[in-house]
Amino acid sequence: MCGIVGAIAKCDVAEILLEGLKRLEYRGYDSAGLAIISPQSVLQRVRRVGKVQALKDAIAQYPIKGSIGIAHTRWATHGEPVEHNAHPHVSSFIAVVHNGIIENFEPLREKLIAKGYQFRSETDTEVIAHLIHDIISTEDCSLFDAVQKAIPQLRGAYGTVIMDTRNPDILVATRSGSPLVIGCGVGENFIASDQLALLPATRQFIYLEEGDIALITHNSITILDKSHNEVIRPYIESDAKYDAGNKAGYSHYMQKEIYEQPNAIKNTLEGRMTHGKIDLSELGAEAKSILRQVEHIQIVACGTAYNAGMVARYWFEALAGIPCDVEIASEFRYRKPARRKNSLFITLSQSGETADTLAALWLAKKIVT
Ligand code: GLU
Repeated sequence: MCGIVGAIAKCDVAEILLEGLKRLEYRGYDSAGLAIISPQSVLQRVRRVGKVQALKDAIAQYPIKGSIGIAHTRWATHGEPVEHNAHPHVSSFIAVVHNGIIENFEPLREKLIAKGYQFRSETDTEVIAHLIHDIISTEDCSLFDAVQKAIPQLRGAYGTVIMDTRNPDILVATRSGSPLVIGCGVGENFIASDQLALLPATRQFIYLEEGDIALITHNSITILDKSHNEVIRPYIESDAKYDAGNKAGYSHYMQKEIYEQPNAIKNTLEGRMTHGKIDLSELGAEAKSILRQVEHIQIVACGTAYNAGMVARYWFEALAGIPCDVEIASEFRYRKPARRKNSLFITLSQSGETADTLAALWLAKKIVT
């Protein structure tokens, strides 16, 4: 899952979106794109394979005006990393950016093709754009209503932000397995998959919860929960000091992260050690007695987190003498794992958003209940 940034501001948003994407670069991605609605309500879209800088250069050559827009860095799951697969994806007046996976995109795609929709990418994302367009066209409803009607038809872990050129003063966002945070300004509002992207614009945030749908305008934020009831989510004032979105003089993000390891370990242990011992009180009053019963450990992760899991396996077995298995999340989630007695299930994710890892966690919870 990669990066999303959206803005509905008082000024032109191109700079805000590009800065947001730059700050999400540390997560890795293969292409980047943005769409902005011009003051004449025309959708302007630019996409590039490779670095955000390539997108920036393209926009510097042909500047884009407009105070509402959405942007994305893509990590391809469906379709090659080529320009026509980069986000935003468009269906006439609808533009969509999407993190995650739509598992049932194939039957939806077939249905929409049968209705006359032409697909211009190989992504799962494009079905969201056409589906919402189809609902608006056949049911003559608002974007916000159409999104509420589309959600039950989409299966998977995803986060989306959607724009409609006919209503250039709203953004609609949905959170279903992939985090989204609203950045609140004065007469302007923002949305992103990570607050880091918005720190230059605001320090006031509202985190969407699982299943939330948000309607964002210049001056208002309306949030519906998964049962479509209006809810108030708390404002959080960020005091984030750590700036992962900055290479801090290192040649690349991986180098920066390697040198940060001693500090990362220090920060993780801070407040979790008392009298030379790990303090488990954060895990709840029963944590100690539950952990004492553990007979097996199952670690599930992807990529670098999987490698970290393999190191943890050696330590768990050598130091605690507890048998430990490590599995790639995409394997675990697509098989039917047997329930094991007194097994401690641990998921690891660098971003906290890895779709396969989250799905594996849900599956593990389902197995035990
Ligand atoms: N599944 C989408 C795609 O392949 C989104 C991937 C992402 O999260 O960046 O385009």
